Amino acid sequence: MEAQEEYIKAGKIAAKVREQIRGEVKPGVKAIDICERVENLTRQLGGGIAFPCNVDINQVAAHYVSPVGDQTTIQQGQMVKVDLGVHVDGYIADTAVTICLDPALTQMVKAAEEALAIAIKMVKAGARASDIGATIEHTIKNRGFRPIRNLTGHKMSRYIVHAGRSIPNVAGYELHRLEEDEIYAIEPFTVLNNAVGEVRDGPPSNIYRWERKKNLEGVPKQMIAFIQQEYRTLPFASRWVLKRFPGPEGVSAFSDLLSSRCIMGYPQLLEKTGGSVAQAEHTVIVQKDGCLVTTS
Ligand code: MN
Ligand code: MN
Repeated sequence: MEAQEEYIKAGKIAAKVREQIRGEVKPGVKAIDICERVENLTRQLGGGIAFPCNVDINQVAAHYVSPVGDQTTIQQGQMVKVDLGVHVDGYIADTAVTICLDPALTQMVKAAEEALAIAIKMVKAGARASDIGATIEHTIKNRGFRPIRNLTGHKMSRYIVHAGRSIPNVAGYELHRLEEDEIYAIEPFTVLNNAVGEVRDGPPSNIYRWERKKNLEGVPKQMIAFIQQEYRTLPFASRWVLKRFPGPEGVSAFSDLLSSRCIMGYPQLLEKTGGSVAQAEHTVIVQKDGCLVTTS
């Protein structure tokens, strides 16, 4: 297949960074230091950053990224998901780990990890995405937890994190079959049985993406050129851009880009009932008789 080597290289880097950070997430550590550590490690290992490192705490299921000067600090009793993306020449690996600082919720993390492992065993050319979703739901419910129904795994392609097709975490969706050489991230999320198991849009996440070109002048013009060249169609953090364009001028240019809709922001995704969320995620290449897990 095309670019298999790049996908494998991105996966190896992502796995190394994930395993390194797993041991570093502890009470007292700042979220922004986790984000920057993951981003720096990725570069040191020769990878590009496919999207800003997410540090999603408790009921935040996805999309929390530290802004400039973030004081958020990890605390005992929290459920912390670190979700990171690496690319090599645009070919992406997406993986996540949950660090559970609440001993009472360890089994919930295990349920997500187990559902992921069982889902991966089902992946091969011709497998139905809906069957995989049903198995994920069944596995999680069997262990006494619930999946989040409106978050899914997703197909990826070059410089594109969400390339249309998805792999659901529940039964009843998606009739398509997986095809050889497709790349998917599979990511079950678990919540306690008394949570609703859905996410809603929360406050801004500090994750953005390029949206459209417009005639701009001055700093906003330089900023949008920088964004397009540096990140293309990949999501980026406001923190990165404001490092390059420091001071009030940068802040004002950034809000100009937002209000003129040259860039758009993603919301944080919060569990609707405020329940703690666990996640496990790997990236796979679909093969004839199975799959290759790039991030294991
Ligand atoms: Mn992810
Ligand atoms: Mn993903």
